[in-house]
Amino acid sequence: APQTDTRNRRVLLAKPRGYCAGVDRAVQAVEQALDKHGAPVYVRKQIVHNVHVVRTLEERGAIFVDETDEVPEGSLVVFSAHGVAPVVHEEAERLSLRTIDATCPLVTKVHKEAVRFAADDYDILLIGHEGHEEVIGTTGEAPEHIHLVDGPGDVDKVEVRDPEKVAWLSQTTLSVDETIATVDALRNRFPKLLDPPSDDICYATQNRQTAVKEIAEQAQLVIVVGSTNSSNSVRLVEVAKDHGADAAYLVDYAEHIDETWLEGVDTVGVTSGASVPEELVRGVLDRLAEHGFDHVDEVESVKESMHFALPHELRRL
Ligand code: SF4
Repeated sequence: APQTDTRNRRVLLAKPRGYCAGVDRAVQAVEQALDKHGAPVYVRKQIVHNVHVVRTLEERGAIFVDETDEVPEGSLVVFSAHGVAPVVHEEAERLSLRTIDATCPLVTKVHKEAVRFAADDYDILLIGHEGHEEVIGTTGEAPEHIHLVDGPGDVDKVEVRDPEKVAWLSQTTLSVDETIATVDALRNRFPKLLDPPSDDICYATQNRQTAVKEIAEQAQLVIVVGSTNSSNSVRLVEVAKDHGADAAYLVDYAEHIDETWLEGVDTVGVTSGASVPEELVRGVLDRLAEHGFDHVDEVESVKESMHFALPHELRRL
């Protein structure tokens, strides 16, 4: 096998990376519910899309369910950061569940935009990924008015009642560049297309994409720590490949790094999705150091200082 020169190996560590304010709030909500109320605390869907976070909370007594009707009457249930449709709240009330809503405030903002456009009787083109929990929740606010547009390829297929009365919204965790392309295509078809009052792609998604672009330009390989069902993490892999990395991979844990990825590589970029605890990134850095990548430069692209107050329902426990 060819020898790889390991003398100049280095890591470029993207910043910001990892936990966003919405994930931090949602995970803390479950932790505090467990502390104050005691186990079990039910959680509808994965609180955030990360395998390790879910396992850790399970060990502490959280029980994850897919639907509200799996929760025993009168129990405490937390709704995930991705948001829920109004029917889910109604069902919880019918079942006399106590609820804590850990929906990220930036997802709630999109729900409110949907409600307002629907009240003005607009057809709403929601750019997002089919089947994603956030899309299901947002659509549930105005199912009669919302049409899903899953990328530029869907633009020609959309049917609206009045092409003069259309607005667009988006999932919070999309690729910024791809969304711009989709909106351009939509505006081509519907010149009167109305924009959302502010960006739906959240600050954390945008900042992590900006940061990974910067390191991808200088790295042959980019490793993104995150789970396969995490939309923003998967987008980071795509953005890294589009911006200069020869290869980019998603890993949940350091063990998932395949040594062959490192052959002939001297600069590895590392980042993590918005639902990823920093300890998992540390694990990846330790593993890389074992292979000679023991010099780590952190590259800060954007300063971040967002913080959200915890769900108010926690105070009642
Ligand atoms: Fe909120 Fe953005 Fe984090 Fe999602 S990724 S929880 S929208 S801050």
